[in-house]
Amino acid sequence: MTDSFSLAQPMTSALMPLARRANLAFSHGEGVYLYGLDGKKYLDFLAGIAVCSLGHCHPYLVETLRAQAGKLWHCSNHFRIPEQERLAERLTRLTGMDMAYFCNSGAEANEAAFKLVRKYFDDSGQPERYRIISVEQAFHGRTMAALAATGQEKYLKGFYPKVDGFDQVAYGDLAAMAQAIGPTTAAIIIEPVQGEGGLRVASDEYLLGLRALCDRHGLLLIFDQVQCGIGRTGKFCSHSWCGGVKPDVITFAKGLGGGIPIGVCLSTKQAALGMTAGVHGTTFGGNPLVCAVANAVLDILATDEFLQNVQNCGTRFGAGLKQLAAEFPDIIVEHRGRGLLTGIQCKITNTDFVPVLREHGLLSTQGGDNCLRLVPPLIVKPAEIDLALEKIRTAAHSWRERAASVGAA
Ligand SMILES: *Cc1c(COP(=O)(O)O)cnc(C)c1O
Repeated sequence: MTDSFSLAQPMTSALMPLARRANLAFSHGEGVYLYGLDGKKYLDFLAGIAVCSLGHCHPYLVETLRAQAGKLWHCSNHFRIPEQERLAERLTRLTGMDMAYFCNSGAEANEAAFKLVRKYFDDSGQPERYRIISVEQAFHGRTMAALAATGQEKYLKGFYPKVDGFDQVAYGDLAAMAQAIGPTTAAIIIEPVQGEGGLRVASDEYLLGLRALCDRHGLLLIFDQVQCGIGRTGKFCSHSWCGGVKPDVITFAKGLGGGIPIGVCLSTKQAALGMTAGVHGTTFGGNPLVCAVANAVLDILATDEFLQNVQNCGTRFGAGLKQLAAEFPDIIVEHRGRGLLTGIQCKITNTDFVPVLREHGLLSTQGGDNCLRLVPPLIVKPAEIDLALEKIRTAAHSWRERAASVGAA
């Protein structure tokens, strides 16, 4: 089928041109590497946007997928699904939550969280409390409600009117948050570590302050861990770095399926009180195939030893990126992020640097606030972290040379 495919031909006009794609496709992947149809081997520090948590074609995931593919793919949520029950039990145990709802993406997981919030207050006789506060520079997804929570003009433009019920305040500002809470407020949503929004790490003080505000006003606290969860920061939950903070709702997606589309909204028993039969639902969510794969991801990822490697590699990478920032102050402002949800804020235009890194065999992506996001598979080894750092250094040198020759011309 792809035999006739050639990078020399222009891309088909049969696709809505919504994604800004590089003229590159891959024949296959293995571990932290992708093999391009241009004949080159790429170190993949994009990992399908923090999705391929166990890298490409992890033998255990391939084996699990093959075995499940020969048994049962889909049967609908009209029946019990053993793999889904097992995954729910494991995820609630790992997060300290009580209940899970499975869907197919991050935006859908957040959508479920928003509906849970509204239902919770409606059931408790306070239907007037329906508004959810998010922070500026957040990213919560692209469906209509998730877009309203994301609240950024660059994503909203052309899609007004915005779904009602979402307010935004400045990031990191507890006083502004307190001010924004009113008699119609129901919940606060925040990413403990931002992905798309610019790799900001919420301080312990901020997260604990948000929890305190929620407690004082009877609000639900949602931690959107679609990108920062599932071990990405070196702990299974990104908020576990902050002792003592417990959310009412957690959403996960990206890394959970290792490349299979799955999302989940987890909550306490109390917060899920309104989520009764028929109230919300999905056709595809939590089918046997995706749940079998997600369980296999957890078999490998949810161990102390595995998470220790993420922490070690994250620390190593962070130190190396800080050093690069000192070496190239003309290109890099600072290192940002936590664990392997990491990157740099650029001095040059981030989107200009991504293709230069790609020319040097390193895949990455941009993030908000002019960041370059580096989110390798969590199975990455220290030697591959060092290789990535070396590629960034070489790319930065070649950027300087190009800038100098343009300047001289
Ligand atoms: C990617 C992302 C989403 C949206 O997930 P989709 O699967 O693209 O719908 C939501 N929240 C955060 C923090 C994300 O990084």
